[in-house]
Amino acid sequence: MAKHIVCLTFDHDNMSPFVARGMTTPTQISRGDFGIVAVPRILKLLKQYDIATTWFEPGHTIETYPDCARAVFAGGHEIAHHSWAHVTPTALSREEEEADLARGNEAIHRLTGKYARGYRSPSWDLSPHTLDLLLKHDFIYDSSMMADDYTPYRVRDGDVIELHKPAIRGAATRLVEMPISWALNDFPVFDYMRLPKFKTMEEAAAVYCRRNVA
Ligand SMILES: [Zn+2]
Repeated sequence: MAKHIVCLTFDHDNMSPFVARGMTTPTQISRGDFGIVAVPRILKLLKQYDIATTWFEPGHTIETYPDCARAVFAGGHEIAHHSWAHVTPTALSREEEEADLARGNEAIHRLTGKYARGYRSPSWDLSPHTLDLLLKHDFIYDSSMMADDYTPYRVRDGDVIELHKPAIRGAATRLVEMPISWALNDFPVFDYMRLPKFKTMEEAAAVYCRRNVA
């Protein structure tokens, strides 16, 4: 009989995507605080059916909601990396991105006693440096790309992509991709994000490019 395996994952963002966008009014923060209510419900359901899952935890969540994060870990779930500040890597320099990666991993180490082995980008987008940094910091898998639906695959690095030229694919690395899809994510279907108002289109474009987070 065929064996069916499902990987159930949660991005435990709470208020971090709103803070990363500069959306810190009481209402926006309250949306993040709903995690305090929702997480125990989810953990109870998972325990009821004896389901182990993976939680991608921003360092901001671990340090702002320590009881929530401890409850997830105590429930026997994997704690994986989801940045510290939930700012897209594409908005950061290599040095900024590595500092955020290390800071997030230290928060996970304090929570679990181990460094994370899995990473999911806070924007479901990766910078030109992310894959190299994940390999440097001994990550085993990434979960931010979409080249398959449910079959893990080896991540390529070193692609050369130029307009008006055929793409040249880089070599496969030891990093394993656990692919994702917006179509399998509940956020676009069940939630809504209104971005802050800006005075000019230039200001909006600058902030959007810097804070395009998922
Ligand atoms: Zn997220």
